[in-house]
Amino acid sequence: MKIICVNCPMGCPMEVQVSGQEISVSGNACSRGAAYAKTECVNPVRMVATTVKLKNAAIAALPVKTAKPVPKGKIFDCVKALKGVEVCAPISIGDIIVPNCAGTGVDIVATKNVGFAG
Ligand code: SF4
Repeated sequence: MKIICVNCPMGCPMEVQVSGQEISVSGNACSRGAAYAKTECVNPVRMVATTVKLKNAAIAALPVKTAKPVPKGKIFDCVKALKGVEVCAPISIGDIIVPNCAGTGVDIVATKNVGFAG
């Protein structure tokens, strides 16, 4: 399997071979690439970034993201769990908006400071 490492701008093209329980990686310039390739084969994960409704503020939507990457198969569940979520200003970066989102064990956190409107 061919895969491009996304951990830095070098974008190393890697070749991953799976043989039973063994995963070998070539083409990576550093160990981060190998770790990324192995995770992509075994349990691919992604960050989720979206918005939730916001009240009492000059803007109507609060940008949020997962505090850590979640399994790829749980992305839709996380987005679904955030539908209907509404928070009130003030909000600080890093505030937990939804703990343990969709049972992933990963919190949804605010990515923007927002004060009261007016
Ligand atoms: S393998 Fe290392 S150097 Fe290459 S893109 Fe990934 S992080 Fe960057």
